[in-house]
Amino acid sequence: MCGIIGYIGPKNVVPILLDGLRRLEYRGYDSAGIAVFQKDSLVMFKQAGKVNDLAALVKGININSSIGMGHTRWATHGSPNDINAHPHGDCRERIAVIHNGIIENYSTLRKRLEQLGHIMRTETDTEVIAHLIEEKYRQNPDLTTATRLALLEVRGTYGLLVMSSDEPDKIIAARRGSPLMIGVGEGENFVASDAAALIDHTRNVIYLDDDDIVCLRADSYNVKTIRDELRSKQVEEITFNLEQ
Ligand code: GLU
Repeated sequence: MCGIIGYIGPKNVVPILLDGLRRLEYRGYDSAGIAVFQKDSLVMFKQAGKVNDLAALVKGININSSIGMGHTRWATHGSPNDINAHPHGDCRERIAVIHNGIIENYSTLRKRLEQLGHIMRTETDTEVIAHLIEEKYRQNPDLTTATRLALLEVRGTYGLLVMSSDEPDKIIAARRGSPLMIGVGEGENFVASDAAALIDHTRNVIYLDDDDIVCLRADSYNVKTIRDELRSKQVEEITFNLEQ
C-alpha cells in the first residue's frame, strides 16, 4: 500500500504532484507515475524507480495542467516495472486510475472483461478497475456513477482516484480499507493518502470512511457512498506538523 496525491485548482499541477509524492517517499515504493491533461488529452507518465526519475522524465515537457493525480507503487500483483506502474488506462486511455490496495477478485473480473473484448496491458490487479469503469460508462456516461457501479463489483481494498478526458473538470476518489483524505483549499482541492502530502497546502481535511466516493472539483466536493447514499462530512483541522 503506497502513496496517492491529487490536485484540482488554478495552479500548475506537476510541481504539486511531484512535491506531494516526495512527501510520501518515507513509505518506500518501487515506481511512480502521474496523470495530467495536456492540450485537452489525458496523458500518463510513469516508470519504475524514484520520484526524481519521474521528475526527470517530465522535465522539459510542456505540461500546463491544473488537474492531475500521482502515485507511488508498492507492487503486489505484477513485477515493479514501467508498464505495471500506475496510472492505468482503459482500452482507449480516456480513463486513468491510480490505486492503493489489493483487488481480491481481479482474475474473475479480468476474464469477464477480456471476454467482452477488453485488452489488458499489464499484470496488475488495478488495471481491471479502469476497464470495468469503461464498461459501466457505456451504459451510464457519468464518471461518478460509472465508478460507483464498478466498485460495487470489486472485492478487496482500495484508495482510488479516477480521471477521464470525457469529464476533465473532476477527480473521483473512493476508499475501502486504505486511507484517503480530501484537503480543502480556497478555489482548489486536494486528495491524498497521507496528511504529509497536504500539510504544505492546507490544514483543512475531510477523512473519508470505507465505501465513500467523492466527486472532487476545484470549488466543491460531493461525498456519497458507493450505494448512492449521501454522506455529510466534517472538515477537521490538522494540528500536527510535518516532523510529528
Ligand atoms: N495492487 C496494486 C499493484 O500491485 C497497488 C499496489 C499499491 O498499493 O501500491 O499495482
